[in-house]
Amino acid sequence: MDLMEKIFALAKRRGFIYPGSEIYGGFSGFWDYGPLGVELKNNIKKEWWKSLVYEREDVVGLDSAIIMNPKVWEVSGHVEAFTDPLVECKACHHRFRADKVEANVCPDCGGKLTEPKKFNLLTEVYVGTTEEGKEKAYLRGEITQGVFVNFKNVVDSTRIKIPFGIAQIGKAFRNEITAGNFTFRSREFEQMELEYFVEPEAKEAERMFEFWKNARLNWYISLGMSKINLRFREHEDKERAHYAAKAEDIEYKAPFGWSEFEGIHNRTDYDLTKHNLKYKDDQGKEYTPWVIETSGGVDRAALFFLLNAYHEEKERIILKLHPKLAPYKVAVFPLLANKEELVKKAREVYGGLRKDLFVAWDDRGNIGKRYFAQDEIGTPWCVTVDFTTLGDETVTVRDRDSTKQERVAIDKLAEYFQNKLSI
Ligand code: ATP
Repeated sequence: MDLMEKIFALAKRRGFIYPGSEIYGGFSGFWDYGPLGVELKNNIKKEWWKSLVYEREDVVGLDSAIIMNPKVWEVSGHVEAFTDPLVECKACHHRFRADKVEANVCPDCGGKLTEPKKFNLLTEVYVGTTEEGKEKAYLRGEITQGVFVNFKNVVDSTRIKIPFGIAQIGKAFRNEITAGNFTFRSREFEQMELEYFVEPEAKEAERMFEFWKNARLNWYISLGMSKINLRFREHEDKERAHYAAKAEDIEYKAPFGWSEFEGIHNRTDYDLTKHNLKYKDDQGKEYTPWVIETSGGVDRAALFFLLNAYHEEKERIILKLHPKLAPYKVAVFPLLANKEELVKKAREVYGGLRKDLFVAWDDRGNIGKRYFAQDEIGTPWCVTVDFTTLGDETVTVRDRDSTKQERVAIDKLAEYFQNKLSI
């Protein structure tokens, strides 16, 4: 089994990610996150939000609607230019993205491909209650436009001044020609984006571009991404999106090749000019700010963090997820499930820790099997309540990565884990 197959199997088996609508045969490009997957995704989003909105004075948050007035997408250029080049095999009629196939040959049957034609990625929806009154709208193809259309609202309703950023996390939809590589290319996915507005000067934009590029790379590294799995790649002229004057990707070394993780774009004044929006500074000077954007995918982050964390040591599978990202922070076990006093004490410890942390309970099988099961889902610490506990109110804490064990007093446990989590 290659790594992608292993992650796919683990994700399903342990409740991270399931194929969407599976009992009806699935639906290509759509995925559901299980009990552990939703925790992993929420933890990624929480850390991202914390690093931008809570830790910086110059960034505020937003949550705009998924469906907007269709004029937004006409004005932004997406109706016209949000396209990928589509080719079709003349023999089997399978469709592909022209820039993802080699030598004009069908990857499925070897047949000849048609000339590329533009394929728009926006997903259409119809809104309204009567047949005649239904209006065509779009599910947003990027979450970005919601930020631009609220630019004036945010400036007017906060005290924020340029340079400043608006951060947003939310679903986006693209009618991808070929969804695939598990969740990497989905038709429904989540983005986490920062639009950072600067004065309209190329030099300032370039400086902030470099700043955000490095800040974003370091954020991934601070959450346990191996440096060797990450790199920057600048877009060539022909692949840049219609709004970008400069674009660089942070790429991840996936089993299917180096792949875009997050895009850093200099959108200049393209969008605000299109929406006819300006900014007035304290001196009354009016101008159209430029925008540096960092646009990452939550689903790609979840997938790449899983791939990056996957380790095998002999029989053991270990997800070495950063504790801040791990779904469960701690698992609590009674040494023996049939000793009432151990179970009672362990339930007390479990109940106490659950006030602040997401904690697992396991009393099946033996301790070895429980460690094995927790390692596989990335739980950083396991707590065992044993006979010594009943005498001295201490428990064994076992570390996932080193497998080292130490005794910690029950009344110090919450603080012990909070300290470890704050590193
Ligand atoms: P690609 O070249 O892979 O199609 P893109 O350049 O079109 O990506 P952007 O428009 O820059 O992507 O979107 C920003 C981010 O949103 C991407 O870096 C990625 O993390 C995420 N993203 C984009 N499309 C998808 C998708 N179909 N499925 C999952 N995540 C996506």
